Amino acid sequence: MIHMKINGIFTIHDYDERIQNQQELRSMKNSKLVDFILHSLHNTKDYIESANILFATFEKIEQEDYLNNFVISTICDWPGQINLRRAITLRLNEKDNSGIPSQILSLIPMIKPFHVSLNSRETLFQIYHFFFKMIYHNLFGENKILVQKPKPRLIDLILNLTFYGWKNICNLIINRFKNIKDIEYLILIDLLDNSLPLILEIYAKLFRCGFYKGYLEGIVRIWVLFQRLQRHNYNKASLIFLSDVFYWTINKHPIIDILKNNLPIFNDYFVENFHSSLRYQTAESNTEKQIIQKAKIIDIERNDEEFKSAFINTRNTKISKVKLISLEKKVSLILLSLFDEIYHNIGKTKNNNNETFELPSFNNKIVDIRVLPLAWSTSNLPDEEKICDAENCNITNSSSNIVLICGHSYHKECLSFLNEKCEYYFNYLSKNIKTNIISLNKRSFKSLNDDKIAEITKNNNDLDDDYEDENVETLLEETEENIDNQYEIQYNIWLNYNNNM
Ligand SMILES: [Zn+2]
Ligand SMILES: [Zn+2]
Repeated sequence: MIHMKINGIFTIHDYDERIQNQQELRSMKNSKLVDFILHSLHNTKDYIESANILFATFEKIEQEDYLNNFVISTICDWPGQINLRRAITLRLNEKDNSGIPSQILSLIPMIKPFHVSLNSRETLFQIYHFFFKMIYHNLFGENKILVQKPKPRLIDLILNLTFYGWKNICNLIINRFKNIKDIEYLILIDLLDNSLPLILEIYAKLFRCGFYKGYLEGIVRIWVLFQRLQRHNYNKASLIFLSDVFYWTINKHPIIDILKNNLPIFNDYFVENFHSSLRYQTAESNTEKQIIQKAKIIDIERNDEEFKSAFINTRNTKISKVKLISLEKKVSLILLSLFDEIYHNIGKTKNNNNETFELPSFNNKIVDIRVLPLAWSTSNLPDEEKICDAENCNITNSSSNIVLICGHSYHKECLSFLNEKCEYYFNYLSKNIKTNIISLNKRSFKSLNDDKIAEITKNNNDLDDDYEDENVETLLEETEENIDNQYEIQYNIWLNYNNNM
């Protein structure tokens, strides 16, 4: 099936996750700031030290044996995951000799869903920058700047407009191309119909609506995406989470039911939001003590209605729904004209030794295999000339085939012989799961004395980076055009392509 249909649970035209997060902050009635400390968190020892502060606090405020009866789910980013897991592994193996307190075993490090989602959006945007740049300039004008790494809010706007613009017309395009095995076409189908809905929905819909099964499947798919895009560390973080979930499921551990029934609480949006409001209300020149004081004030004021409404309305300019719908239609028009060009360039993508590819519909832009569907990362590249990529295919009289989202194509009979699985895709995943797990185990078992190489690598997708690009509100205010007529005309032209076939 070339068209992996992912049905939106609901269509929202409010692209700003921050606004939604702030509403959640209001509902965080059961959370309480216990303490606010400054710690560098550079290596595993730093994490153990901070955990000790946490354990001491628990002993003070709860009954003493609290940690013997309860666990603490610790939602953290990649450095938190790897360092805490290493501490836990070392404690399990070397017991008291490790010098790590036994309470560390009460921590359950868990993947940070917001970070996974943010990272996937930024990574996808950067890898397909040439495509989104084309959309951006067509939408807002050639003179508008688009930096290599725009603000998350601008990325979200472009990704969402592209997604909804695609949804308007995807059936027209898929019906015209049918099961054509053209590289440019497959790149865009994979991006628009597979990766894009995944990264937009994994956090905002699947996770926050508590759709456990969908979220789990989403994590599997996002791992595949991180692996193909060669996004290091994140291709391991999602595997760790899956490994835990499978272990709990097989062993019928009670935590699995809690996770299934209360997925959205395994989040750190409180911490995230708290940090951002703290950043907003403090200056770089503030001393450590001033920042800690401010943090405590923010926590107390959270329960004050007036403060909350003031906070929620900061920097929030509502984008008009009409304008967004019109921009989405404009994206539809841009895509229709792009796919028209791709249709006329079928089979013309130049393959340079299977390493780089020259895309005729993008001014001969040269891209590497990360941009191509997963099939080009496997050991068996799809053959554009062949109807079926199956290794032992001996069907000669049938011409009907199925092009999979990976880019391989099979006869219906050959695919069913393979239990409906692409053999090359499956081998690629198995091999890379093994490689990642071996590397993870090596890092987890490394002795604490062996800490010259810090586990932290500078996260180049950090939220605090400085960005110098166009202001989203200004961009939207400046666009004012009515494209309904044009949209209607193009839509009908494409309908006719399909009727005449
Ligand atoms: Zn076959
Ligand atoms: Zn495949």
